[in-house]
Amino acid sequence: MLESTMQDFPLTIGMIFRHGRSVYANSEVVTFEGETSRRSTYAEVADRVEQLAAALDRLGVGPGTRVGTFCWNNQEHLEAYLAIPSMGAVLHTLNIRLFPELLTYVINHAADEVVIVDDSLVPLLAKVAPDLETVKTFVVTGTGDAGALAEATDAQIVGYEDLLAAETPGFDWPDVEEHSAAAMCYTSGTTGNPKGVVYSHRSTWLHSFAVTAANSLAITEADRILPIVPMFHANAWGLPYAGWLVGADFLMPGRFLQAEPLMKFIAQERPTFSGAVPTIWADVLRYSEDNPIDLSSFRMIVCGGSAVPRSLMEAFESRHGVRIVQAWGMTETSPLAAVAHPPRGVEWGTAEEMDWRSRTGRVYGGVELRIVDDEGTPLPWDDEAVGEIEVRGPWITASYYRDPAPEKFDDGWLRTGDVGQVSPDGYVQITDRAKDVIKSGGEWISSVELEGLLMAHPDVVEASVVGVPDDKWGERPLACVVLKAGSDVGAVGLCEFLGGSVARWQLPERWSFIDEVPKTSVGKFDKKVLRARHAAGDLDVQTIG
Ligand code: ADP
Repeated sequence: MLESTMQDFPLTIGMIFRHGRSVYANSEVVTFEGETSRRSTYAEVADRVEQLAAALDRLGVGPGTRVGTFCWNNQEHLEAYLAIPSMGAVLHTLNIRLFPELLTYVINHAADEVVIVDDSLVPLLAKVAPDLETVKTFVVTGTGDAGALAEATDAQIVGYEDLLAAETPGFDWPDVEEHSAAAMCYTSGTTGNPKGVVYSHRSTWLHSFAVTAANSLAITEADRILPIVPMFHANAWGLPYAGWLVGADFLMPGRFLQAEPLMKFIAQERPTFSGAVPTIWADVLRYSEDNPIDLSSFRMIVCGGSAVPRSLMEAFESRHGVRIVQAWGMTETSPLAAVAHPPRGVEWGTAEEMDWRSRTGRVYGGVELRIVDDEGTPLPWDDEAVGEIEVRGPWITASYYRDPAPEKFDDGWLRTGDVGQVSPDGYVQITDRAKDVIKSGGEWISSVELEGLLMAHPDVVEASVVGVPDDKWGERPLACVVLKAGSDVGAVGLCEFLGGSVARWQLPERWSFIDEVPKTSVGKFDKKVLRARHAAGDLDVQTIG
């Protein structure tokens, strides 16, 4: 081997931090407080990041120590994102919507020693505090009451602002190895118990670079990013580090995630870019039917986490002139792995362009992807063969934290549990999660396709389709639909509507009209709950011939 002449310079979050602070000192971080916002420049945030690092150091946080965050998207959360990994410790973003048992499980499993908690979330964390085995210190942001925590635990409780006030900027950052752990995130448990993914500095750095790339999210200093996707959901899809690296402004929505306050914040701050799961955007669309909204500042919205209905993208484009771009990824993939930009030569705003954007995403450089059959044999990228998607690459996990889960890996590839097709030029189309595929008489029915079509009906608010046992066919689809108030479309009408797009044998004969589709802790349709309700006889099901 011939040695290169290149410097062996570690790719670290400290390097991202230093770059943002020195080059983009005047970019800003704005946090919404319901009516007005508080704002800081990058220079001010960077000083506070150094004060936070000094304070955590004083609390005993060192290389490898896990520090949890139990926070909304706000300036303090971004400070933690920057300070904790840069000092060699490990940022563990905690999902504030996890069930208490799962929250206890992940904090104990990761052995967090310090947890930074927003004052507004103290009551939630206090519920599990007595069961936390490793937490020595809780650091409470804001000025709120930490009394509930004090009653629940003997651990030390300190104020975030008090800690920072006792320190001066200018922390002496240690050298950090690029392969060491920077952050960890547990999967939200949509299909089972949470599993911990541990990101390295190197993987985070490479992923951040990929996120800013023009064929990905194309983030630059000109952007004002509104991260609606929580910073505990797969690192807010990489936006915090990518944005800081290029000096974008951050518009942090805090706990104001309903359509009405979000629209107020958008009107005040005029974001150019945002990311959130489809249920949030569907909410915004419903809100816009009765309220004037102005989304003209956006150049792009990235949407993913579950399949994005084409009807949702079309409605945003035609009614609000907003371009939604679909992306695919998982906690295990940092998360971005594919983005659905159309190929060259396709004219913007045409139906053909929407065909491409409706695909799940085009795999991008840095991620290798294949589909395999049940025996693990690779299948062709011909837009026809359907198999389980497997990925590998420098920001894809190779295992889980203290949980090897060999069944999730295949000879160096991560088995995603997603099933789909790939086109010859790398566009992925996910038809289902393996666990959600409906196996009817030896044929597969895509629940994702039926849901997307149903949600295109003007009277349908939400629709989720699950497989339920059937004596003759093994499994058949059950469509669970939320209708607009006053709609009388009914199962027969919806079946007719679907009939134009899918084969007869795929049409559901079982229908349940419900008030709301249950959601997971990150806002995805919770099919586990629907299946359980059906099995327990809790769903009112009509059958049509
Ligand atoms: P959880 O597994 O708990 O839901 P993740 O957020 O890591 O947590 O979920 C990743 C999964 O989300 C993917 O494996 C896939 O099933 C689904 N997903 C993400 N983006 C898309 C998309 N654009 N279309 C369809 N499914 C998606």
